[in-house]
Order: sequence, then structure tokens, then C-alpha cells
Amino acid sequence: MSDSCTSARNAFGSYLQAADGRGSHAALHTHLAGCPGCRAAWNHYRWDHAADSALLEELQDFLGADYTPYRDSSAELAATWRRADPQTPDEVAAFFRSSTAYLYNLIIWQASGNRPDYCAAAVPILRAQKVRTVVGYGCGIGNDTVPLLDAGFTVTGCDYDSPSTRFLRWRLRRHGHDAVVAEPAALPCDATYDALWTIDTLDHLPDIDAALGPLLQRVRLVVCENLAVQRGVSGKIPPPPPRRGHRRDVHPLRVASAARPHRRDGDDLDPCRIYGSRT
Ligand SMILES: [Zn+2]
Repeated sequence: MSDSCTSARNAFGSYLQAADGRGSHAALHTHLAGCPGCRAAWNHYRWDHAADSALLEELQDFLGADYTPYRDSSAELAATWRRADPQTPDEVAAFFRSSTAYLYNLIIWQASGNRPDYCAAAVPILRAQKVRTVVGYGCGIGNDTVPLLDAGFTVTGCDYDSPSTRFLRWRLRRHGHDAVVAEPAALPCDATYDALWTIDTLDHLPDIDAALGPLLQRVRLVVCENLAVQRGVSGKIPPPPPRRGHRRDVHPLRVASAARPHRRDGDDLDPCRIYGSRT
């Protein structure tokens, strides 16, 4: 192990909880991309930090004998994505519908404390804006859907049927929630929601306008991650290149006319952005 490996591993703790994601850890990020040994150590580190979490306990109960501790879901996701090389929206959808690595990845991201607490950042604003109904587009395992339900919001989950949403449905029953989790194509086309919640999803949509355009007409607030902040480690699915040369975090606003971000102090490091007309 070289000196650079030692310093990389010494930085895992601050990297796990860095408010600005990759921003302050560019050297570590680059090192991880090129050092399989440190990538494996980082995977181990995240699992160790998730060890006592309720979420990991739920995964064990859900998977039973299939549960694989220390599965390196980031490496596996990258490898399976490269192998599948999905080119069309249908191929991308097929990838997410079948990926068990993604189930593990979403769990470790959350359970290790690596995932920002989007709900803590957004819920006070949603409450101030009198939001009651939320559609969680790309809800995955329910990292936000379940806490939002627990907080009293009426949430409709939306994602491809997949290992992740099968786990979410199991979690909802366990938590006593009867929320619906719908396939994107099965969302009622006349339903309205106070807020669209779409976190860690925009980068996975081959065509944001096609996926979200109609829905954006039927919500008054949009919550997405702060895309000016880079997060995660290499090995995640690479995002498509930005289009039209402007910041992708304003993209949903092209459709939601008259929408503007709700600004707060320290806004630049906020994990999420909330757009909409003020009430
Ligand atoms: Zn290394």
C-alpha cells in the first residue's frame, strides 16, 4: 500500500459525510477511481458504518439466505452497466428492472450515512408550503418515501418494478403504510400532487422531458438534488452529458414556468433544491 493509499484511507471518514460530496475530496475521488485496493477498502468501510442500521437489518430479513454482506455493489453496478451497455430508453429501463446490485447500492448509500439527509433539508419547506401530497419519482427502496410517509405526507411512489421496489413494498407493509408504488407508465395521468420529489433520478433518465414533462404540469413544487454538488464515488452509473450548456439543476424549470428556487442561507451546500411558485 503506497503513501497515497494510506492518506486516501485516512480520509474515508470525512469523505463519507462530506457536505459537498466530491468537491473537497477530488484527490481521493481520483485515487479511488484508479486503485482497486482502496475501492475495496472503501466498500468495506461503508458496510462497517452501515452495520447497526435498521435498514440493513430489513434487507437481511427481506433477502433471507440470499443476503450477501460486503457485496461491492458500486463495482458490480459499473461492471453490469458496461456489459449491458444500454442504448435505448427500453434498455435502460430493463437494466434498472433487473439490477440487484442497485438494491444493495441504494441501501449502503443510505445506511452508511453517505447519502445526504434530503428529507431533513426539505421537509420544513414542504410544510411551510402546505404540501400534503407527494409523488416520489424514482423512489427506489424508499429512502425518502418511507420517512416522508412517517412524517405524515401522502406519498405515491413511482419507479420501475425491480428488486428495489419489491423491497420497498415489503418495507411499506412492515411500517404499516398502504402507499401505492406505481410503474412510471401506470401513474394516473389526471392525478395532481402538491410536490414532485425526484432525488438521484434525473441522471438516470434518458429523456427528462418525456419522463417528467406531463407530471410537471400537475405539481406546484419540484424537489431534486442540488446538481451543482457532485456526490458519490466512481463506479456509479455515469450521468449523460449536460445538454444545452446550462446547469442541469434548472432543467425541470423549463417546464414548470414561473418556478424559482426557494433560497436559504448556506444554499450552495444544500443537498436538495426546491422549485416552485411561492404561496
Ligand atoms: Zn489506493
